[in-house]
Amino acid sequence: MAKSEKLAIYGGKPVRDMYLPYGSQWVDESDIQAVIHVLKGDWLTTGPHITAFEREIADYVGTNYAVAFSNGTAALHAACFAAGITSGDEVLTTPMTFAATANSILYCGAKPVFVDIDPESYLISPEQLTTKINHKTKAIIPVDYTGNPVDYQEIMRIAKENGLVVIADAAHALGATYHGDKVGSIADMTMFSFHPVKHITTGEGGIITTNDKFYYKKLILFRSHGITRDQHLLTSHNEPWYYEMHELGYNYRMTDIQAALGISQLAKLEDYLLKRKAIATTYTEAFQTLDPIILPKIHDDRESSWHLYVIRLDLSKLRDNRPAIFKALIEENIGVNVHYIPVYFHPYYQKLGYQKGLCPHAEAIYKTIITLPLFPKMNPSDVEDVISAVKKVISYYEV
Ligand SMILES: *Cc1c(COP(=O)(O)O)cnc(C)c1O
Repeated sequence: MAKSEKLAIYGGKPVRDMYLPYGSQWVDESDIQAVIHVLKGDWLTTGPHITAFEREIADYVGTNYAVAFSNGTAALHAACFAAGITSGDEVLTTPMTFAATANSILYCGAKPVFVDIDPESYLISPEQLTTKINHKTKAIIPVDYTGNPVDYQEIMRIAKENGLVVIADAAHALGATYHGDKVGSIADMTMFSFHPVKHITTGEGGIITTNDKFYYKKLILFRSHGITRDQHLLTSHNEPWYYEMHELGYNYRMTDIQAALGISQLAKLEDYLLKRKAIATTYTEAFQTLDPIILPKIHDDRESSWHLYVIRLDLSKLRDNRPAIFKALIEENIGVNVHYIPVYFHPYYQKLGYQKGLCPHAEAIYKTIITLPLFPKMNPSDVEDVISAVKKVISYYEV
């Protein structure tokens, strides 16, 4: 049927004229006014908007504390530091993530140990996890890939049994729930990112949520050079100007400009989440009958925040492979993407000695996945364009 429609890659008319990106922020006039208000005020950094934003995020996920950072990667680095991760330690994580997850382990001098994913959910496999634990294992960094929460109950149980810290990389999962609990309130520490493609944005930004006062204090210290002015912690006399550096911290602070944008964006999160879910549902309904593609599966006990909509190609039902189909979709002006190249495929990790073949499920799935555009500002015709392009391209290549 649609085989008669000439693909743009072969000179046909593209499904749309304007390129549609896979993700994008939505900044409106109220966001702009919130930022201008800060710029006209006294505090550009270390001011009241930071603590207000932290309070709002902590209240939203339901934790005692939240500590904001200059970006999500800095936040992960700080969480690894707070967890006491150091040289000689091993930390378990997934290869199906952005390099920053594993990099935060390397920043602390520890060794990332990659655990294979479950081939149905693409999430770190609790069964595989247990086989990698030894006396060097210090922590687990699971990733709520695409916004779909990991099996927190199993992971927290395994961690408790083995005395491990769980730092959730929930860069994709602001607003997601597991057994009715918000992601951010379950792990020992949880990271959210506010990069423009994520659920809400501060330009660059990240945060750690936790219920643990010890971690909270470490995070605060690490964010600002390891310097404290806390009278109870100072080792020496306390002149009014006096402060001490206790740890080798960084300057990982968020600005009040970013925090004000974050507060304004957070007010729209529920609407953004509903829009993301509606688009995902429309995709799922539209692609149900497309035999060569496998759709995302979400377990009944959790609610995804739909950061990404990832389809998997069944290559046995297609005449060509992922690169051809990917390029054909790009030519239709659909901004598809691939999340992710398994982290240890990167030359830096290869040089560290990680070998291909380590996580067979992740590697096999990597070869077949395509991320479709999904962001709240997409309008119904954008969604229809994605559906038309996928149907056009897939039916052309279908055997
Ligand atoms: C975005 C992202 C990060 C890093 O966040 P930044 O704010 O860009 O530093 C880490 N992990 C995952 C899975 C991400 O998607």
